[in-house]
Amino acid sequence: MTKRDDAALFGNRFLTMPAPSETFPEEGMAATDAMRLLDVDLAMEGDPQRNLATFVTTWMEPEAQRIIAENLHRNFIDHAEYPISAEIEQRCVRMLADLFNAPGKTTGCRTQGSSEAIMLGALSLKWKWRERRQAAHLSVDRPNLIFGGDVHVVWEKFCRYFDVEPRIVPLAEGKYTIGPEDVEPHLDGNTIGVVAVLGTTFTGHKDDIVGIDKLLRDVRKERDLDIPIHVDGASGAFVWPFLYPDSKWDFRLEQVRSINVSGHKYGLVYPGIGWLVFREESDLPKDLVFHENYLGKTDATFTLNFSTGASMVLAQYYNFVRLGRQGYTYVMKMLQENAHVLADNLRSSGRFEVIGSDLEQLPLVAFRLVGEHAYDESDVAWQLSAERGWMVPAYTLPPNAERVKIMRALVKETLSREQIDRLSQDISDACRTLDDKGATHGSERAQVKRGTGY
Ligand SMILES: *Cc1c(COP(=O)(O)O)cnc(C)c1O
Repeated sequence: MTKRDDAALFGNRFLTMPAPSETFPEEGMAATDAMRLLDVDLAMEGDPQRNLATFVTTWMEPEAQRIIAENLHRNFIDHAEYPISAEIEQRCVRMLADLFNAPGKTTGCRTQGSSEAIMLGALSLKWKWRERRQAAHLSVDRPNLIFGGDVHVVWEKFCRYFDVEPRIVPLAEGKYTIGPEDVEPHLDGNTIGVVAVLGTTFTGHKDDIVGIDKLLRDVRKERDLDIPIHVDGASGAFVWPFLYPDSKWDFRLEQVRSINVSGHKYGLVYPGIGWLVFREESDLPKDLVFHENYLGKTDATFTLNFSTGASMVLAQYYNFVRLGRQGYTYVMKMLQENAHVLADNLRSSGRFEVIGSDLEQLPLVAFRLVGEHAYDESDVAWQLSAERGWMVPAYTLPPNAERVKIMRALVKETLSREQIDRLSQDISDACRTLDDKGATHGSERAQVKRGTGY
């Protein structure tokens, strides 16, 4: 028998072959071989369970997984063929509008994630601004958008892709969110909107949305400028309604016209789902909605993508009906409780200070070293990953707080109390290794004195 025949009989032909990578493969391989080739390769990358860097869901219930697996062949955009999936999207939008306290009938849509939702929401701001300017016979060539340095990179992307001047409020050491006093000097007739973040990527806090709303209501009265707020609630809009129901950040505030949220973050769904919700139907400019009839029936679409799977929409609806307010509140409180335990462990190790855990915050722990060391947070992150495979990022904050380096651990449903205790111990062990051998990571700045604060 040739080696080839043996491979056909015993499989695993891929074991002694390089993985196809440069040219389109001439020949195929058996299904089992293809599956094993991928499995073996993927086993070498990070384990999602130990990925505390990502905000994205890494665990769902088996029943939800079944719904997802059974609907992978359903193209969400085929509304004519799959009207029930389309109706389920609309149910989710109505539920979110209710959760965000919309005053009346509203509209919104499913997106691929918050990034698509933000592009669409910000385009709506630009279009509505242009309508207002044109109605007043004013120029429409210099739109600007105001946000803090605490936003996600997608906001700068929007400005570059769609030709809007970004007016970015810098941060400062000890000040990692923005408020009305930061926004005020940048406002003018060309401002299409102000972005406020609910749960920043950096430290998990919220901008002063109540204060910014008050400022913009005053500006509307005194200067006859109606400037809307878009709330980037990618993470926070599934956390605040449950942990801080009395804290106002949503449509209870008059100038908040649109909100995005990632279903795949604290919406507790696997990657590939986001939401955009408008305050009122009129906040979505008609010009941005396209009508087409290729799929058998005239249909309106407001998306950047077209074809996409229906599974994640269905999984989101599954979570809404499965958990309800009661269930989401339970999950969020549990995550918050574990985040507090991790924060306490880190503080009591004497090695770290925790940033802003006494404020309203996402279920995460942002922390930094205290005292003098021959190593910094990047070294700790590296050592922790090398010793235990935990992925906890270390990064510098945006300008002008870039001298502050922090680490951040997301607390999700995969992090049980047992894991929290193990992680705390592993972080201490990593520090002890570094105490003994010094920096491993080519630290940019050894022996830096740390202040405390925030
Ligand atoms: C994650 C995140 C985004 C981008 O969302 P995706 O769903 O990953 O596209 C935008 N803004 C904030 C505040 C985020 O945390």
